[in-house]
Amino acid sequence: MKPAWHSLEGRTALVAGASRGIGLAIAREMARAGARTILAARSLEKLEAEAAQLRQQGFEAQALRLDISDAASIQAAVNAAPPVDVLVVVAGINLRKRFLDYTREEYETLMRTNLHGPVELVRAVGRGMIERGRGGKIILIGSMMTILGLPYMVPYALAKSALGGLTHALAAEWAQHNIQVNAILPGFILTDLTQPVWARPEMQAWLRGILPAGRLGTPEEIAPLAVFLAGPGADYITGQLIAVDGGYSTCAVWPLQPA
Ligand code: NAP
Repeated sequence: MKPAWHSLEGRTALVAGASRGIGLAIAREMARAGARTILAARSLEKLEAEAAQLRQQGFEAQALRLDISDAASIQAAVNAAPPVDVLVVVAGINLRKRFLDYTREEYETLMRTNLHGPVELVRAVGRGMIERGRGGKIILIGSMMTILGLPYMVPYALAKSALGGLTHALAAEWAQHNIQVNAILPGFILTDLTQPVWARPEMQAWLRGILPAGRLGTPEEIAPLAVFLAGPGADYITGQLIAVDGGYSTCAVWPLQPA
């Protein structure tokens, strides 16, 4: 019998960047959908506590140390992990500065963490998927910066827009291996990464004025799409950049009322 479209039973999912925020919400939902879930990031203690909690609830979960900015750590993590059917790359950082003010070191750290590391991880895990010949799902977490510009984030935008290119080109290349590659573009989601921005009253006022949804999103509102893209219901979806953004990237609101 074919599995239900939402079931990840019998699949192994590796979530890179699962210690908090969007990645943690995704890892929890992957486990609840039946996947053996590997929670990876640098904060091993936090990951172990989360994995233990998921196991207590009857799900399969384990922790794995991974520093995505370090090629040796990526290889060690992939070597230590069981064969992966679903890879979700969530790990990311941001640093908001004027373009001319970034130091070379800051620029390189951002690019290593948000682009070069994710590319290396996709290569290492994808190689295993191809060798096993069972297909697979790769889900990248982009951003509004994958498709739009906002000021004071040029290195972040460079990395996130490049993940869009990776999604398109790799989906075309690995379709022959039955590997689907898609990206989720979260809008404005309240997490540790963005809390300082949304603590500012002028940013809250801007959000209410411009965003159709009129509020910030939550990590839990990103996770269901990741689970769907990881499952058999998404076998014919590949190369897509899918925004979960309360309408930000496609609509606007204005005060005009009908006569
Ligand atoms: P967050 O709460 O700060 O979580 C970031 C996650 O990435 C943590 O689990 C962190 O784990 C991991 N990480 C950071 N550097 C890492 C490294 N070198 N190696 C391994 N893991 C690393 O951020 P978030 O808001 O959930 O964001 C998650 C992703 O969504 C990012 O890629 C971000 O760009 C993207 N995003 C967020 C928003 C938003 O509004 N929040 C919007 C668009 C896109 P450790 O620190 O334990 O390593």
